Amino acid sequence: MGDADPKCTLEAEMDVRLGSPSMTLDLLVEGRIATLAGEAGFGWVEAIGVTGGRVVAAGPRADLDPLAGGATRRLALAPDEIVLPALRDAHIHLVEAARTVNQVDLSGAATLADGLEIIAAAHRRLPDGAWLEGTGWDVTRWGEWPTATDLDRVVAGRPAFLWSHELHQVWADSAALAAAGIDATTSDPPDGRIRRDETGQPTGMLHEGASKLVTRHAPEPTREWLATAVEAYCRGLLAYGIVAVHDLAQLVPDVDLTGGIAIIRDLADGGRLPVRVHASIRTEALGAAIEGGLRSGAPLGGSERARFGWLKIFGDGSLFSRTAFLLEPWELGDERGAPPTGPRGLPTTTAAEMAELANRAAAAGIATAIHAIGDAAVRSALDALAPVAHMTTVPNRIEHLQFVDPSDVGRFHPLGVVASVQPIHLRGDARWARAGLGDRAERIGYPWRAVEDAGGLLAFGADAPYEDVDPWPGLAMAVTRSDPSWSPVDVFGLHEAITLDMAVRAHCLHPALAAGERDRGRLAPGHQADLMVVPAAAIDEPTIPGGPLARARPRLVLEAGEVAFER
Ligand SMILES: [Zn+2]
Repeated sequence: MGDADPKCTLEAEMDVRLGSPSMTLDLLVEGRIATLAGEAGFGWVEAIGVTGGRVVAAGPRADLDPLAGGATRRLALAPDEIVLPALRDAHIHLVEAARTVNQVDLSGAATLADGLEIIAAAHRRLPDGAWLEGTGWDVTRWGEWPTATDLDRVVAGRPAFLWSHELHQVWADSAALAAAGIDATTSDPPDGRIRRDETGQPTGMLHEGASKLVTRHAPEPTREWLATAVEAYCRGLLAYGIVAVHDLAQLVPDVDLTGGIAIIRDLADGGRLPVRVHASIRTEALGAAIEGGLRSGAPLGGSERARFGWLKIFGDGSLFSRTAFLLEPWELGDERGAPPTGPRGLPTTTAAEMAELANRAAAAGIATAIHAIGDAAVRSALDALAPVAHMTTVPNRIEHLQFVDPSDVGRFHPLGVVASVQPIHLRGDARWARAGLGDRAERIGYPWRAVEDAGGLLAFGADAPYEDVDPWPGLAMAVTRSDPSWSPVDVFGLHEAITLDMAVRAHCLHPALAAGERDRGRLAPGHQADLMVVPAAAIDEPTIPGGPLARARPRLVLEAGEVAFER
């Protein structure tokens, strides 16, 4: 049996493990330091002392100064700087995110012409014959569907395809269409559509499941290429202040655990994993995980750095595609016609199947994470997790919970179910939420405040690569429920905004608690000294959408008291 309450703090318990208060400090940090001690607020202190990678003292400068000796390193903050505990991302797809590192990024391209310029430059850097891949274009931003002919003009016969920013369509050039054998005679697959011109010729745009017709022809990267990409990507995370992530598994099946999770384990064992990772599996790998003795929270291999995370179950579909499972029907009148999986969407795994899987997992010490976007899926997920509440040392969790019936909001806390949310999803989702759910969207949508008020533990992530991994705009979104990209300036359900201190806790502390790690995420005595130095302006209130919080970057990141990143 595990811990009843993921929120329970460790300070008292940890004191017994600390050394004598008369010890000499390895490191003394002085300035404005948020410890996140206690249950709310920033817990400001003037100084913390670090020995052996852990905070051993926190309090007034005058109390800590005498603990410093000749060998003590000192970090004195400038008046316009503060220290926060380092960030942790509670929901990422690490291998898929890493695969995007050498892909063309069109998220900054305001127009098709800008996008083509970026693609042309990438084309010139690539060796002959290599496929060009990319992401980030947006038909709403560009105001037009790009075509194969557009792409042909800048890549000179090289096969090329680029995912839209929400990954629901692929824009391919003529060489990629030819490699896939797509022409006017090719029929649409059951789960997608090939966009065509008036004469029936494919235009180069492949919607939903039709994307695979092209993407499956791109050469697969080698395992060593992927490993190197994951390593480089994780090093990049440190520049945002992120020292740990929860990997919610690859989207491709990995029945025998030789895919992404093995890459992460081997990187850790080889000393090549720049951030701490909790890596998860999908349902088809549950048998192999149980057989292999994997337990949530335990190391994957010989290194402490990569640990086993969760069994990930898909409870429903998505908001954008209107396949999320709702208690009441989707709004009619969408220009795209009826929702593809029925008026209320559909569960992708039934409540009974989810309960059975969660139970099998819990009996083996494996906690469960359920993807649930719609209010009906969230209810089923809570029902499925109720019988296995508190059975594992790492808590169970629900991912996304974008719409929650008010009667279910209070169930997270008593069941010990972590609310794993990605505030930045709201940036792109707001208009689809209003279109798809009408009045309900703001009433029951993205209920961060309600879950927190009812005692639930919010753990923030960004769901990269589906959103940009930068955690800072999401922190601002949690507080403001608004984004500068929304025009005219708009706010989505302000009653569900949370306070800045709670948003910081949800990104710096709660992911640690959600992983059963009660000695991380705070800078109170007993906790590992994972911290970042950021501009004080980041926490000025009121928070401005697109302001100093949304644009913040640390100048220094320490993990266990050692420099992990320095600008
Ligand atoms: Zn995800």
